[in-house]
Parts: sequence; C-alpha cells; structure tokens
Amino acid sequence: VIKIEGLYKSFGELEVLKGVDLMLQKGENLAVLGRSGSGKSVLIKILAGLLKPDKGNVTMLGKQLNQLKPKQLDELRLRMGFSFQSSALYDGMSVYDNLSFPLTMNVKHLSKKQVNDAVEEALDAVGLIDKIESDPEELSGGQRKRLGIARTLIMKPEIMLYDEPTAGLDPVTCAEINALIVEVQQQYKTSSIIITHDLTCAKNTCERIAMLIDGAFLKIGTFDEVFATDEEQIKKFFSYNF
Ligand code: ATP
Ligand code: MG
Repeated sequence: VIKIEGLYKSFGELEVLKGVDLMLQKGENLAVLGRSGSGKSVLIKILAGLLKPDKGNVTMLGKQLNQLKPKQLDELRLRMGFSFQSSALYDGMSVYDNLSFPLTMNVKHLSKKQVNDAVEEALDAVGLIDKIESDPEELSGGQRKRLGIARTLIMKPEIMLYDEPTAGLDPVTCAEINALIVEVQQQYKTSSIIITHDLTCAKNTCERIAMLIDGAFLKIGTFDEVFATDEEQIKKFFSYNF
C-alpha cells in the first residue's frame, strides 16, 4: 500500500534523506528506527504530503503523490490517519466535539445518530468512552494520545502514520498504547508506519522494522533479523538500548 523509491530530501546543505526505498504490505505494521535527527519525522511528513521530496517517488494506496492535484491529495489524506509527536487536540472543546468535528467537517450529510455512533465506536476502540463529556485538558498524557488516535480512527483510515506514539509515557501506558496500535491494525485493517525509539513497541507491534542510518534504510527485516545483523552501526544502535 506504500511504495517509496529513491527518495531524497535536503535542507540547504543538510542532506537528510539520501535514497530511501521501502515497500509496505497491506495489513503490515512497520517500525522505523534511527537516531535523533536521522530524518524519521521528515520521511513521515513526506508521506503525509506535508513536505515535498527533492527527488524520488512515493505511491500510496495506488496513487503517486507528486502527480496529484491539491484536491486529490486532500482526498487521499482522508484515507490516512496521523498520530504526530504533538497530539494537537482542541482544548476547550469536549472529547465528543474533538471527534465529531473532523467527521462532520469531512463527511457531509451525516445524521446526528450516525455521528454519535461513530464517536462512540472510536472512543470504545481506544477505551475512553467514559470520558466522552470531558475536556481534553483533564486527560492524562496517555489518554490524550489515545484521543488523538480515536480522532483519526473516526475517519476509518486505511493507512496509519505514527510519529513516536509512546514518547514521554510511563512503561505501563506505553504498553497500553502498543496494545492499541495492534488492536487498530486488526480491527480497522490498517497498514501502518510507526516511528519509535521504543524497541519494545517495535518488537511487539510490528511485523518488520527498518533502520534509517545515514539517510537510507540500512536494513529492513523482522526485529530478530535486524537485531542479529553484523552491521556495526546497527549493533551500536542496539547496544545503547539494552
Ligand atoms: P527525532 O528522533 O529527534 O524526532 P528525527 O529522525 O525525526 O529525529 P527529523 O525531525 O526528521 O529527525 O529531522 C532530520 C533533520 O532535518 C534534522 O537535522 C532537522 O534539523 C532537519 N530538518 C527537519 N525539518 C526541517 C526544516 N523544515 N527545515 C530545515 N531543517 C529541517
Ligand atoms: Mg522525529
């Protein structure tokens, strides 16, 4: 469902991506690992259509990004869910409104009941149904993360892009979010790219992991395959994590 070919991106003199290639299979969760500043967020922003690459092609859900008109890109974005480093919730609006707002913005002519059902289904999926009347400001960090995920689920995404979904959360909450990522994969039949520094997350939620080193994927495979590699840079990366 995602095909990345020969992707390059620089900011002035700084070459961030230097030939990224990747194929994401339907229904697969893939983790992207790499050091801070290696370009993981830049890559996901390119996939989200928020940044343009200097060179290379991205095909998502059968559409080549650089051939889409702005309106077509918007349509494609509606089929993707984003969980970015900052959750960007609307404080001052209730949890209910945080979910109903994007839905009614993007899908016209829904009855009140259809909106209610969709909100309840999404909150149910992330375990926040009892917070439906709350204000997001009253939620914990982990609950806000889950609300952010619920807000993307309400659009029934086919692809999910997660940028550090467990950053800054305690180990128990991390485990909850990891379980949620797998649940979303199974219940919503999503295919996902998950950027993470959390090796437990990568190991437990993803079929494959990809190591972004020096602007390209040095190794892509199952967690055990990548972990067992002889590449010095990958060994070094893992040695600091255990
Ligand atoms: P982290 O793990 O800390 O989130 P990352 O791998 O996500 O790191 P990126 O945010 O992708 O790192 O940034 C990669 C490099 O690109 C960094 O050196 C950053 O300063 C640079 N960069 C990112 N966005 C821009 C931009 N809009 N303009 C200039 N430089 C940028
Ligand atoms: Mg980042």
